[in-house]
Amino acid sequence: MICNVLNAALAPSHFFPPDPGSANLASLGGMVSTNASGNRAVKYGTTKHYVLGLEIVLADGRIIHTGSVLGRLLRDMI
Ligand SMILES: Cc1cc2nc3c(=O)[nH]c(=O)nc-3n(C[C@H](O)[C@H](O)[C@H](O)COP(=O)(O)OP(=O)(O)OC[C@H]3O[C@@H](n4cnc5c(N)ncnc54)[C@H](O)[C@@H]3O)c2cc1C
Repeated sequence: MICNVLNAALAPSHFFPPDPGSANLASLGGMVSTNASGNRAVKYGTTKHYVLGLEIVLADGRIIHTGSVLGRLLRDMI
């Protein structure tokens, strides 16, 4: 999913705040891996502030999950 495509789907009532200059081609996976920010970062934070958990496929094929086992809590990710 591309950042601007997500925001087009969320508009007009919602938006995904991280807004890198590359938003028209930045994927959410790429934004998470680089903790992309942008002009709205001072007010709304960066991409890491919008990640509550990750499912990660390791190079050997194993799948791991990050985040809280009790629930998806922001304090467990930052
Ligand atoms: C013109 C321009 C303007 C920019 N402006 C800003 C800005 O204002 N603020 C800012 O913070 N950054 C900015 N950036 C950098 C920005 O953070 C990245 O361009 C963007 O967030 C990365 O997204 P991408 O889809 O291009 O990732 P890619 O460059 O394709 O990938 C980045 C890394 O993430 C990995 N990756 C990608 N997807 C996944 C996935 N699903 N799972 C695991 N790993 C993955 C890739 O292997 C690579 O190592 C800018 C870049 C450009 C080119």
